[in-house]
Amino acid sequence: MAWDFQTEPEFEAKLEWMRGFVREEIIPLETLADVWRTPEGRQRFLRITAPLKEQVKQQGLWAAHLPPDMGGLGFGQVKLGLMHEILGQCGYAPSIFGNNAPDSGNAELLAVGGTPEQRDRWMQPLLDGKIRSCFSMTEPGAGADPTLLTTSAVRDGEEWVINGHKWFSSNASIADILIVMVKTGDHETPYRNYSMIVVPTNTPGVNILRDVPTMGEPDHKTGEPGGHAEILYENVRVPFENVVGGEAGIGQGFALAQKRLGPGRIHHAMRWLGQSQRAFDLLCERALTRYTHGSILAEKQMVQDWIAESYAEMQAARLLTLQAAWKMDQLHAAGKHYSDARIEIGVIKFWGAKVLYNVIDRAIQIHGSLGYTTDLPLESMYRAARAARIYDGPDEVHKVTVARQVLKRYRPSEPSIDHVPTRRAAALEKFADALDGLSLSH
Ligand SMILES: Cc1cc2nc3c(=O)[nH]c(=O)nc-3n(C[C@H](O)[C@H](O)[C@H](O)COP(=O)(O)OP(=O)(O)OC[C@H]3O[C@@H](n4cnc5c(N)ncnc54)[C@H](O)[C@@H]3O)c2cc1C
Repeated sequence: MAWDFQTEPEFEAKLEWMRGFVREEIIPLETLADVWRTPEGRQRFLRITAPLKEQVKQQGLWAAHLPPDMGGLGFGQVKLGLMHEILGQCGYAPSIFGNNAPDSGNAELLAVGGTPEQRDRWMQPLLDGKIRSCFSMTEPGAGADPTLLTTSAVRDGEEWVINGHKWFSSNASIADILIVMVKTGDHETPYRNYSMIVVPTNTPGVNILRDVPTMGEPDHKTGEPGGHAEILYENVRVPFENVVGGEAGIGQGFALAQKRLGPGRIHHAMRWLGQSQRAFDLLCERALTRYTHGSILAEKQMVQDWIAESYAEMQAARLLTLQAAWKMDQLHAAGKHYSDARIEIGVIKFWGAKVLYNVIDRAIQIHGSLGYTTDLPLESMYRAARAARIYDGPDEVHKVTVARQVLKRYRPSEPSIDHVPTRRAAALEKFADALDGLSLSH
């Protein structure tokens, strides 16, 4: 029976290399974030990180998210999850490992749902880091309920004509291609009305109005990496074959989105743990350092409570996430759909986001005024963490999914299945022979 919580030694050695590499080579880039934002700074960043990417390739860790026959390394979700835990410590790390959102998810989508031509044309350049991509689904009027999306694609001969209004299309303003969720049908089952179409960003009619400044990046300027674009699609014409999956992909937009989002949620949850661990390290270090009211903070019971709660929450999130990843690997190996892991995936999405938020919040609190300043990364981590409870589906939607699935295991029962008088009557009957002679009241 396999019930093993250990990482195999060869892979652990890779992880150990990653830990040192991220700490020594990538995290130092963080404090120069303002430098990298300008177009010239972006070029400098690419020059500095090019040799780092080479090192990652030499280690055999580049673009590890796809199966080998699709150009990746076939690591599976558990190994990828362990990698993302390390990469999550620094926002720059995933791109240096060829594994950054949304490109990794989009490459995965094209791998599982694209035609061979689409894989050659867009997936391979994405894996090689030669092009950037965006997943453009949310609209100002529809997000958590995607059946309300209105952006449409109408077939006109050998072309699609796309019209609509999207926002929060992350990375669109620096992307080469946009994967756009569009309404293509009028089926009575709303989920079958949507398809995904690949739109090169420079297609006439793609009007990027702005990158929307956010709590995470209030000073963000349109065109800088990491923006969330508002886009008008105005009579955008693309070839018919750009629909993901070709003819067979029409009406399959949501089914394909699930394939993309499942692994993505594992990666998110593990990256959040990387962030949580960074905040937790600061929390513990401060507890041992700061003296106030007669002792160091580590000796105050309330602070011990934060440390114990944070540790327990993080450990629970880690085990939940790795178990979800393991289940997905089992399903994949059996040729089954990830939807059979929807409880596990839903749980880690809301639980992981909550843990991230809690741990950073406590780390800020223990630092007092220092925690509120930009002298520490905690304030920016906190602002970024708030979004985790919203993107890739808000907490509430995942809780609805989890509760619905869990409730399928139950039936209404009157009286309760554990109603003692009912069970006692049944037990008296069951053991009547043995109880013969005993006087028992009901
Ligand atoms: C940083 C960031 C990056 C993003 N990147 C992308 C991207 O790259 N591409 C993309 O397409 N989208 C992206 N999004 C959008 C994101 O996916 C949506 O914000 C999300 O799906 C929620 O949709 P909404 O914002 O329209 O909220 P709404 O649908 O308006 O929901 C608002 C709130 O209503 C509540 N709610 C909703 N449904 C239920 C329910 N059934 N029960 C109880 N309460 C409910 C929840 O609290 C929810 O937060 C991003 C968002 C953020 C914050």
